[in-house]
Amino acid sequence: MIKGNFPTQHFENLPTPFYYYDTELLKNTLTCIKKESSKYNYKVHYAIKANANEQILKIIQNEGFGADCVSGGEINAALNAGFNNNEIVFAGVGKADWEIETALKSDIFCFNVESAVELEVINQIANNLNKTAKVALRVNPNIDAHTHSYITTGLNENKFGINLEKLQETILLFSKLKNVSLIGLHFHIGSQITDMSPFQDLCIKINEIQSELKNVGITLQHINVGGGLGINYQHPNHIPMADFETYFKVFHDYLNLEKNQTLHFELGRSIVAPCGSLITKVLYIKEGTTKRFAIVDAGMTDLIRPALYKAYHHIENISSNEDFEIYDIVGPICESSDTFAKDYSLNKTKRGDLLAIRSAGAYGEIMASKYNLRELPKSFFF
Ligand SMILES: *Cc1c(COP(=O)(O)O)cnc(C)c1O
Repeated sequence: MIKGNFPTQHFENLPTPFYYYDTELLKNTLTCIKKESSKYNYKVHYAIKANANEQILKIIQNEGFGADCVSGGEINAALNAGFNNNEIVFAGVGKADWEIETALKSDIFCFNVESAVELEVINQIANNLNKTAKVALRVNPNIDAHTHSYITTGLNENKFGINLEKLQETILLFSKLKNVSLIGLHFHIGSQITDMSPFQDLCIKINEIQSELKNVGITLQHINVGGGLGINYQHPNHIPMADFETYFKVFHDYLNLEKNQTLHFELGRSIVAPCGSLITKVLYIKEGTTKRFAIVDAGMTDLIRPALYKAYHHIENISSNEDFEIYDIVGPICESSDTFAKDYSLNKTKRGDLLAIRSAGAYGEIMASKYNLRELPKSFFF
C-alpha cells in the first residue's frame, strides 16, 4: 500500500496533535484550477469557511482568487489576507446588521441575498450609509445533490435561498428599493458532490430560469454556481486532487450563458481538503474484550467530521512499516462519537507512533473547539 510522503524529520519535536499542510499540493491544486477555469474565463472565489488559516488565505490570495464569505469575521479575514474587496462575495441566511455594514463599508463585489426581508434590510442600511449594494439573489433550485442530508442545501425543504415561485416577485422589489441593484443570480446545491449529474441538473435548471427571465425582459451580468465539488477521501495518495477539468467542462457544456455574462464559482473543500492532515500521537493501545483500541491524542475537538457526519478519513501510521492489524482509532474526549475509524487496518501500532488523518484540510482546523478545555491544534507548513 502506498503511503503519503510526510516530512517526518520535521515532526519529531512538534506538539501533537497538529495540522500539517502540504504547501506544494495546495499550490499545484491552485495552478490546476486556474488552468482549467481560465479556459472559459470563469472566476473562482475561495470559500473561506472551509479553512481560514492565515497562511492558507495568503497562499490562495496570492494566486489571484476571489473570496466567498459567510460572516463579517470572514470578510475581515479576507481583507486582512489581501483579497481584493471587489472580488469578495458575501452569502448567508442570517446576516446581522453589523455584518451588512462591514460589507457595505468595504465595498464588496456582491451580496448573495437569501430572502426578500433581507433585501429590504440591506436596502435600509445601505441608504443610511449612502451606498448602493450590489446583489445576486440566491435561488433555491430544488435540486438533490445526493449527498449527506446535513450538507445538502438546494432542496425546497432547506433554509437556503429564494424558492423559484418567489423569484420574479422578489426581482420586482428592486424597482422600489433605491439602494440595492440586482446584478446576478446565485446557487449552491450542497457539498462533497463527486458525481457530476447534480451539476448538470443545476445547469439545465439555470437555463430554464434564465429563459423565463428573458421573456420578461431581464438579463443579469453574472451567474454564480457556488461550490460543492467533492474530493476522494478514500484514496488520497492515488487521487490527490478533484477532477477540475471535468468539473468546469460540465458548466461549459451544459450552461447557456448570455453574451457578456460571467460565471463565478465558490470552491472550498476541493481547494483545501487534500493538502491538510491531522497528525496525532498514539497514547495507548488498549486491548478490549472484542476490540483493540488505538487511543490517540487528537479528538473530535480537533477534527469533528467523523463524529458529526460519520465522515471517512484515510488514516496511516507514519511511524511503522510492520504488518497490518485492526484497530478502532479513538480520541480522548468524553463522548462515544469521538471515534475516527472503526475496525481500521494500520501497520502494527504502539504508544508514541504518529498517525496521519488525511484529507483534513477542509472543515477541520476551522471547526476545532476547546471542549474539555483542550487547546486548539496548531498548524505547520512544510
Ligand atoms: C459552504 C459554501 C461553499 C463552499 O462549499 P464547498 O463544498 O466547500 O466547495 C460555497 N458557497 C456557499 C454559499 C457555501 O455556503
